[in-house]
Amino acid sequence: MAAVRKAAPGAGSEMGPEYKRAGHVLLHAPSPSKLFGRVPIRHVVLMQMRFDGCLGFPGGFIDAKDGSLEEGLNRELAEELGPGASACYVTENDFISSWVMESPRKIVGHFYAKRLSLGDLEQLEGGAVHAKDHGLEVMGLVRVPLYTLRDGFGGLPAFLCNNFIGSAKEQLLEALGCLGLMPQNKLEEAVRASQK
Ligand code: AMP
Ligand code: MN
Repeated sequence: MAAVRKAAPGAGSEMGPEYKRAGHVLLHAPSPSKLFGRVPIRHVVLMQMRFDGCLGFPGGFIDAKDGSLEEGLNRELAEELGPGASACYVTENDFISSWVMESPRKIVGHFYAKRLSLGDLEQLEGGAVHAKDHGLEVMGLVRVPLYTLRDGFGGLPAFLCNNFIGSAKEQLLEALGCLGLMPQNKLEEAVRASQK
């Protein structure tokens, strides 16, 4: 398991040249749908299955030539999500937190979240198969189940048992709480159930 810690806001440039910069975004939209006609979906939250078999968020490494973090992140999103990425242009206002990873490489990862309309998000999902990186770096977008089924494990607890890249799991749990996509007590219950 990679060592991951939360960084001070704005961390990055002062961390030294040995740290590579990365940016990733959680895209979400409210949903009125019910699974089996009874389990509320509440929100669509997007992650992606990566080339390495781990789950992560859209985004990637940001080069010095990218300019700002957000410019670099939006360039990565265009490559990974295709033309629909213009509907989710990420700005400084969408920033959530920064994370430091020491191994296997030194990376400062900047994490953003953006709410879309359900229509825009579904259009983006449909178009993502035409992205440059589809089938290469990105094996497909996935929706995160935010519910727990009657057996106490199916849904979010089982999802949390997947392998996540870098700080993606910590970022997911942080965002679900701080964006109010799930009640804090339900989130904590799901994390406990995933560890049983
Ligand atoms: P990528 O180019 O998308 O592979 O991202 C660059 C690096 O950032 C990855 O190799 C991971 O080590 C790291 N990373 C940190 N957080 C995430 C995340 N939430 N999703 C994907 N990669 C992440
Ligand atoms: Mn990527």
